[in-house]
Amino acid sequence: MYICLEGIDGSGKSTQIKLLEQWLYNCGHEVLRVFEPTDSKVGRLIREMLRNPHATDENFQRTLGLLFAADRTILMDKIIDAEVEGKVVISDRCFYSSIAYQNGAEWLSQINKFARKPDLVLLLDLEPETALMRCEGKDSFEDRSFLEKIRKKYLKLAKEEEFFVVNANNGINKVHEDIKRIVARRLGM
Ligand code: C5P
Repeated sequence: MYICLEGIDGSGKSTQIKLLEQWLYNCGHEVLRVFEPTDSKVGRLIREMLRNPHATDENFQRTLGLLFAADRTILMDKIIDAEVEGKVVISDRCFYSSIAYQNGAEWLSQINKFARKPDLVLLLDLEPETALMRCEGKDSFEDRSFLEKIRKKYLKLAKEEEFFVVNANNGINKVHEDIKRIVARRLGM
């Protein structure tokens, strides 16, 4: 089972993924937690590039899209091996992030054809204002209008690809409860 959490910066993905991992572990599941960009050489290059002030430039975004696809391809072996071992894989982002962040669903789908589709995608959706407040003082890559644009793209994707949309304006415990309910149902727990 490959589960992915998606959402804009400040949506609480990393907190919720850690809570989900702990809960699954307590329930007796073996878990592999992964994230994008990964800590591979390509992933580290991506993080460095994201600090570039030209990050909104079209060609820069294309390059990022290609690098993310390469980074993801490296990650796929890990994910497939873990699934074969019966582990539940939980991922902070997947190729849907590329569709949301980089422009051009068609070419992005083509270059991401090596990426497995998650069995379950949870979109942590929240108001950009709340997201920005949560990001204050943190290493954030996004501003308000950008967050709004990405949120819209995510909500469109959620309809097309049947994501579960979780209200991430709520506090940590409520969001965790909502996520647990959805995951438990899918895992038949
Ligand atoms: O999930 P995390 O906060 O580590 O992501 C870092 C940043 O990478 C995001 O804030 C987003 O701006 C950027 N990103 C991107 N394209 C992707 C995935 C993430 O530009 N496909």
